[in-house]
Amino acid sequence: MISFSPIPWHTDHIIEALETAQTPLIAPCTFPKVATDSRTMATQDLFVAIKGETFDGHRFVKPLMDRGVRGFVVESSFFQKLSPAEKKKLISKGISFFCVENTLTALGKLAAFQRNRANVKVIGITGSCGKTSTREMITTIFKQKYKVLTTQGNFNNEIGLPLTLLNLSHDHQWAVVEMGMNHSGELTRLGKIARPDMGIITNTFRAHLEGLGSVEAVARAKSELLPCIRDKGLAILNRDDKRFHIMEEIVERLNIPHCVFGITKDARIRAQEICQKEDSLNFTLHCPGKKGSDSVEITLATPAPAMVENALAAATAALKAGFSLAEIKKGLADFTPVKGRMEILEPGCGIKLINDTYNANPGSMAAALDMISHHTGPTIAVLGDMLELGGKAPILHKEVGQRAAMSGISHLFIHGDMALHVMEGALEKGFPREKIFIGSHPELIKKIIQKLTPQMRILVKGSRGMRMEHIVTALHNHL
Ligand code: ATP
Ligand code: MG
Repeated sequence: MISFSPIPWHTDHIIEALETAQTPLIAPCTFPKVATDSRTMATQDLFVAIKGETFDGHRFVKPLMDRGVRGFVVESSFFQKLSPAEKKKLISKGISFFCVENTLTALGKLAAFQRNRANVKVIGITGSCGKTSTREMITTIFKQKYKVLTTQGNFNNEIGLPLTLLNLSHDHQWAVVEMGMNHSGELTRLGKIARPDMGIITNTFRAHLEGLGSVEAVARAKSELLPCIRDKGLAILNRDDKRFHIMEEIVERLNIPHCVFGITKDARIRAQEICQKEDSLNFTLHCPGKKGSDSVEITLATPAPAMVENALAAATAALKAGFSLAEIKKGLADFTPVKGRMEILEPGCGIKLINDTYNANPGSMAAALDMISHHTGPTIAVLGDMLELGGKAPILHKEVGQRAAMSGISHLFIHGDMALHVMEGALEKGFPREKIFIGSHPELIKKIIQKLTPQMRILVKGSRGMRMEHIVTALHNHL
């Protein structure tokens, strides 16, 4: 991967971006990058001391000064507490401080400034599920023609998004950024930083209910992205989402140009003839009005039907950016599932391990169980709790049990505080009690190994905090 140097920070740019002064006033200089991690930063970089619930970057300021770092963004109260002797040393050592009220806000301001001075178009992606997968699909299509900056890992929150945008260089032409949220107001803040030219909402599900209460509130919170889309920009929305009407009302009321994808007939960019295979799926992508042919056969290297909507969102963005159907087909064919998201591992004996352990909420759980229900051979599900669901957690886990029972699996393995609710749901749908196992990771691993048969499919899934990847690793090592 080619990496481009971020646009450097001259003292004047920092002052302009943060609307603050340099203290003490010393000769202007240039910092190559902005950093928040004292362990990985270079001494020439500008350090922003971020404060979180469990950490405070201000703790590292003095050791970093000793290490030779020359520029700091800190909260004013921290600077005021420096001793007169320390303040005196600053001029002789050429160290400058930029004092702000809140360093997290300051990081966002620096990122917004970087975004605005880079000659780049931004695609912002939010949604309950599929942000990372959609981002990767867009990136594989767009990098055929353009220099693309893309979110790394899951850097999609109030720290991760600014850090992503701060990597923008003069060479990048597109930035594809993931925007996560777990409470209302967060996407407005992220949206104002990223100011996307295209804003995608992949879908809305009952995730983060702890912070938001209802699924309608989730849809409204995701929709905060829409007013942040730049003038002449485009909102890309999922016609099949049950809360589509909430988003549609907003784009129509605010007069935001929009394009709608989906499987239903009235979606403009549509998937038809979806055909799920053992390890892949095909569908026909229709885009009426496209010059020449208006449809193309798409193949995705995943059998997960839920990935179709991600591919449609990516194709819509690409069409609007001027890509041809052939280029979209090629880009999507090159997409491989990201680690831990419906990733298919083949450890041996014809067994397929579906590693979907990166995260879980009711939407992605349903999508994963839907995927394995199409498999005709022996199949088992190993499920961990879905976290952050608040008071609705028991009923939502019961629904998972019901769905699991109807997915054609031979055995159900459950881990977590919600296991009894999952079991209750499965029993209600007639799943045999003797085929359900509840336990810790080691207990489940032992039981699963006893049940392994050749050609088996094993779905392993749960929220990040359930660390279900340990089960994947243990089974992988065993086979
Ligand atoms: P996060 O909020 O954790 O960053 P994300 O929105 O980036 O998640 P992915 O990482 O792409 O989403 O996928 C997370 C989980 O959701 C995985 O289990 C994946 O298989 C599933 N998933 C991906 N796309 C969809 C979709 N469109 N509908 C339902 N589930 C999906
Ligand atoms: Mg993600």
